[in-house]
Amino acid sequence: QTRFNHARFIPPDAIFALTAEYLQDSHPQKVNLGQGTYRDGDGKPWVLPSVTRARETLSAQGLNHEYLPILGLQTFREATAEAVLGSELFAQQKSKLATCQSLSGTGALHLAGLLLRACQSPLPKIYIPEPTWSNHHQVFSSLGFPCESFKYYDHDTRDLDIESYYSTLKNAEPQSIVILHACAHNPTGCDPTKEQWREIAQLMKDRQLFPLFDAAYLGFNSGNYDEDAFAIRYFVGEMEMEAGICLSFAKNMGLYGKFRGYPPIWRAKRKRSPELIENAMIGERVGCFMLATKTSEAAVNTQSMLEMLQRSEVSNPPAFGAKIASQVMGTKELKEMWFTDMVTMSGRIRSMRKALYDHLLSFGAPGSWDHLIRQSGMFGFLGLSPEVVLKLKNEYHVYMAGNSRISIAGLNPSNVEYVARSITQCLK
Ligand code: PMP
Repeated sequence: QTRFNHARFIPPDAIFALTAEYLQDSHPQKVNLGQGTYRDGDGKPWVLPSVTRARETLSAQGLNHEYLPILGLQTFREATAEAVLGSELFAQQKSKLATCQSLSGTGALHLAGLLLRACQSPLPKIYIPEPTWSNHHQVFSSLGFPCESFKYYDHDTRDLDIESYYSTLKNAEPQSIVILHACAHNPTGCDPTKEQWREIAQLMKDRQLFPLFDAAYLGFNSGNYDEDAFAIRYFVGEMEMEAGICLSFAKNMGLYGKFRGYPPIWRAKRKRSPELIENAMIGERVGCFMLATKTSEAAVNTQSMLEMLQRSEVSNPPAFGAKIASQVMGTKELKEMWFTDMVTMSGRIRSMRKALYDHLLSFGAPGSWDHLIRQSGMFGFLGLSPEVVLKLKNEYHVYMAGNSRISIAGLNPSNVEYVARSITQCLK
């Protein structure tokens, strides 16, 4: 007898399952373009130099394992809000902001959902671009929101379908919520231009739609944090709109999950600092939910609600990642290093995007590939059929998401030609 007779089997998350399959594959030329995690030119995970320095400072200061406040580390929350809005807008908005540290970007989206659910009845609709990051529907439908997809991308032109976007906003139910990828749209790599963002903001304001920004790639997209934060600052600053902003430090600070120790060579160099390695074993997952409101009273009240919601979800958030991020953003020298690190990552991705494009052309891969260099961010949306995607995996050991989204960060000078040749052979 079990009380779980009605439990359904839920298939594993496709991208995590693909990574597991890749890890099982013993082929020497296998390439993982599935999961969106940054890799350096040797295909290895990269600990940002700014993060290493922050960790060293923290370690020298002595870390403890005490609880953080429920809302998270105060210095981290402030430094995050200032980075996102820029100093000037932050100074203007400070008293009208509610912020709460979260379990990375996913946790921020979830907190946003909890707060919005508690503040609006009946539950508003959430408009979600199609395609989108696979977790959006799951996060919001599990909270009970009616989710509605709208056409974001045109598979024929392989570009943003801006007319369909505008028309969705013009006809949306007033008071609804719209999920906006602040930059580096996942999976398509197609973002609105500044002009289009202005139009989107105006349409949303006219229709009283609430912008919920998913900002997982600020600074990582273009290498310029301010540039990537344009849309958020425009909505909040110039348009004076209320907005929710869900921030992740997974990509732009390389704080994905748990640090598993230094590579052997580093370890040897750091022999005299074993506590550094030990401290580095603590989990990270750091993000922030930020709400820009119109009044300081709304900010105080929503922040108190976030505190209550966080308390019943995780009680208080993990400390180590927030301490690192706070150290990086709150120290002038480290912040500059971080900006350079983001240029390094986005620059390498851009050069691999171009290299893939060049190789595809030189091998004479059938079709046009201009969309690949029009896109930006971590992902390339190739436009291959599911059959080709499967063939690439089974016969060439090249792994990518079923919709032919590739993580460009998985490419490097040693494998990009092989990937281009494999794609070409599959298409011919
Ligand atoms: N939103 C988008 C669009 C993403 O691509 C990601 C990372 N894959 C996230 C949110 C959040 O990821 P995390 O919870 O690891 O910060």
